[in-house]
Parts: sequence; structure tokens; C-alpha cells
Amino acid sequence: MFIVMVSSECAPVAKVGGLGDVVQGLAKELSIRGHSVEVILPMYDNMRYDRIWGLTQTFDDLWVPYLGHAVHCAVFFGFVDGVKCFFIKPHSSHNFFDRGTYYGNRDDPDRFAFFSRAAMEFLLKSGKHPDIIHCHDWQTGLVPVLLYEIYMHLGMGHPRVCYTLHNLKHQGVCGPEVLRVAGLDPNRLMNGEKLLDHTHPTACNLMKGGIVYANFVSTVSPRYAEEIRSSDLGHGLQGTLAAHAGKFGGVLNGVDYNFWNPEIDWRLPKTYGPNDISGLFDCKDALRDRLMLQDRFKPLVAVISRLDPQKGVHLIRHAIFYTLANGGQFVLLGSASEQGINDEFWGLKHHLNDNPDVHLEIGYDDDLAHLIYAGADMMVVPSAFEPCGLTQMISMKYGTVPVVRATGGLADTVFDANYAHKPYEERNGFTFEHFDTAGLESALGRAIGLWHRYPRYFNQLRINGMRRDYSWNHPGTDYVNIYEWIRA
Ligand code: ADP
Repeated sequence: MFIVMVSSECAPVAKVGGLGDVVQGLAKELSIRGHSVEVILPMYDNMRYDRIWGLTQTFDDLWVPYLGHAVHCAVFFGFVDGVKCFFIKPHSSHNFFDRGTYYGNRDDPDRFAFFSRAAMEFLLKSGKHPDIIHCHDWQTGLVPVLLYEIYMHLGMGHPRVCYTLHNLKHQGVCGPEVLRVAGLDPNRLMNGEKLLDHTHPTACNLMKGGIVYANFVSTVSPRYAEEIRSSDLGHGLQGTLAAHAGKFGGVLNGVDYNFWNPEIDWRLPKTYGPNDISGLFDCKDALRDRLMLQDRFKPLVAVISRLDPQKGVHLIRHAIFYTLANGGQFVLLGSASEQGINDEFWGLKHHLNDNPDVHLEIGYDDDLAHLIYAGADMMVVPSAFEPCGLTQMISMKYGTVPVVRATGGLADTVFDANYAHKPYEERNGFTFEHFDTAGLESALGRAIGLWHRYPRYFNQLRINGMRRDYSWNHPGTDYVNIYEWIRA
């Protein structure tokens, strides 16, 4: 099959969170299976250009319709971790992708509406005939709308669209004039069955457009699929998802084990695997050295996360003090986009500066993340909601025991050491139900207790997690089945 991914992120070149990892990991998995895969991305000025191999301009005369005239674009090609990527670079005074950031601009809906249109125009003008277009999140929700409203009538009758929802909290709710940016007619599309938002009666919802028009809609875990169809976690799209239930399902994301794998991870001082976890303790020493934590017989608890209300920032804060009060050490690697949260964690960092049992690293650091995954004993993920979550799956691969709130993909992947209805060799972490400090303490307290009192059982949990296959192997098969189903 010929599959084209249209996305606003692809790791490691343009990554804000799990979306970037998923696009890269799935593209690689599909390529390994013999499919032809290409990814179309915006050409951001702040991308990791050092992670693109052989970047060259491949198309210099792409004119993308834009509000009654056309914007001249160039298209560049390069390999990102072996994946073929096309980057769209508009020459326009709007500087759509020259903002120094990926998101967070007031005109984000315009920027990505333009990108969606440009991607479709590129497919048409370059004569590509993909079997499948796979697009992701609100940023590319207009892709299937454009296919069926415009490009099908220009000869693109062949492709089928799979649309993946990574986070329902961000739906691209905007003014209907954004549709004009993409060359679509608001009068035709702004009704309840199509792109009219449910909560804001005059607004347009780009994610809803993707759901309505795509041939198949997936989300990133079976539990989250259930939650967004039947609870407030659908953020107003429950009805739309229920109406389209026949083409909707959850596929758990995978983890790229070429990148996240302690057996081959060159960033670690010592590699290790489930048959011999001794290298893990060298990594713990190295992590303590690097962050200047004291070397004591204490469990090391970690958080690696965006510091966003979704991730339970008040529970992350509580976990720090609870761990310290219960004889543990704590490492946080987190970045906040909200100023208030950023200030709060910088304040906390200064407050705890002299404590030899804690280190807070505010920022984004891929290399440090690898060492923390390897060196920590437990990883806390206390999310209010979590569509899939990669952090807990990466942690398990590195033998770090996850302590998570049982929601979305966390509930699908972490099975409680004490309460799961599973044999011990399938249990791999600690879970709690209630999104509050008592809930967190109930799980983190048991984890720290087991580490101290029954290290053999604790290490067995590590190994159980390491042995479980959360690679792209299973999800790769699921997506190929979906593609084949919609082609038929
Ligand atoms: P989300 O996509 O909601 O941010 P996921 O758990 O799906 O959450 O994916 C998070 C990814 O981003 C993981 O690969 C995690 O290691 C990485 N990550 C999150 N915060 C940081 C950070 N501050 N520095 C480095 N990597 C981070």
C-alpha cells in the first residue's frame, strides 16, 4: 500500500508530545512491513534540522489557493530516521511556520487550515495517488473534508482517509472564516451534521470535520475510545462519535523500541535487559551523579511530563513532597507552556534547591529523559485523563515501575501489583482511581513500601513490564487491517 501521513509533528524533527512519536513510529513500522510511506509536514523554522538527512528542495512551484489568490510554496524532501518526509514551505508574509514555536499562536487554526490545503494541493500537483491518507488531530482535520469536498472532484477519487484523534481537549474550535482559508464554503459546512461546533453555536470545529468526513476514525487506546464516546472526556464530541460509531475504534499506540530500548541505548552508561537488570543500577548511580543527588539506599521516583493541567500538576507537586517524606528521592523533568505553572515549578525548584534528595529540571531534554527512564525506580503519571500515554510504556521497557491513575491508555497498559485480576507475571505497576492526593498516596505508598520491604517482588514487577511487548508490532497490524478495511 502507498500511505501518506499528513501531520503537524513527526519525531524527532518536530515533536511536542506523543503525536510526534506516533507518526514516526507508525511510519517506520509500516515501512518495515513493505508499505510505501511518506509524511507531509510544515517546514517550521524551529525544527531539528540536524535530524533530517539529505534535505533538498524537490518542488519549487506549488501554488496553494488562499483567500481568493494563491500562496507560492516550495516543498523540501529529506529522511527523518529513515522515514521519507516532505516539508511545505510557504513564501508568504504570514510566516505561517516561521514563529519559533510549533503551536500557541492566535492564528493556529489558519496556519493549519493552510497546511492541510497545501498538503492536498501537493498530492494533486505532484501526481501522487496514495491508497491511504492518514491524518492526525485537529490540525489536519480538514484533510478528509478537502478530499471529499474539493479534491475528489479534481480526480483524486482513489485515496481513503484514516483520521486519528490523539487528544480531544484540543479540537481546533475557531471562527467559520477559517474554512475560507482552506477554500471551503462555510455555508455548506456549518451545520450540525458537519463542522458546526456543539458548544459554541457559531463556531467551526475542525476535529469534528475530520470525524465526519474520514473513512475511519481511530483514537489511541481502547479505553479512551470508550471514555470519549460516553463521558465528558469527549469535550462535546460524544454525540458525533456515537453517530459515527461504526467507523470508530481504539488502537493502542506503540513505542519505537529502536529508540527506546535499554538493550541498545547508547545514551546509557550501561545497557541491560530483562534477563539481567544489573546495568539498571549503574544507570541509577549515573543519574544521581549527573543531578548531584546523594547516594543513599532510597527509591528514586520520577516524573517526565509536559506540565499541563491534564497531567495532574497538583498531584505531581504532591508526589514530590510525599516521596521526600517517605524516604525517597525525586527527579522531575518537565516543561510548562502556561506561565503560571512554569512560575510555580521554578518557585518549587528554588525552594528545594538545597535538598540532596530532589532535582527538578524545568525544560525539555531528550537525552536526560533516557537516563531518567533507566535510572529511576518508579515513574508517576497522575493524569486527569490520558488518551494513551507513552511515558508509562517507555518506563516499563526500561524496568521503571509505573504508578498511574487508571484512565485512558494508562488503564489499558498498567496492571496493579496488588489488585489486578491477572497472574503476578502480568502485573507491572500500581494504579489508583481517584484524581486526588489520597488516590495518589494509596498507589505511591504501596510502591515505595514494596521497594523497601520486598525488593524481589519489586524487581519482578520491573521484569514483567520489560517483557511485555508494547512495540509497534501489534498496532502496526491493527492499522494495516483498518487500511485494508476502508479500501474495501
Ligand atoms: P503527551 O503526548 O500528552 O505529552 P505522552 O506520554 O503520550 O504524553 O508522550 C510524552 C512523550 O514526550 C514521551 O516520549 C516523553 O518521554 C516525552 N517528554 C515529555 N516531557 C518531556 C521533557 N520535558 N523532556 C523530554 N521528553 C519529554
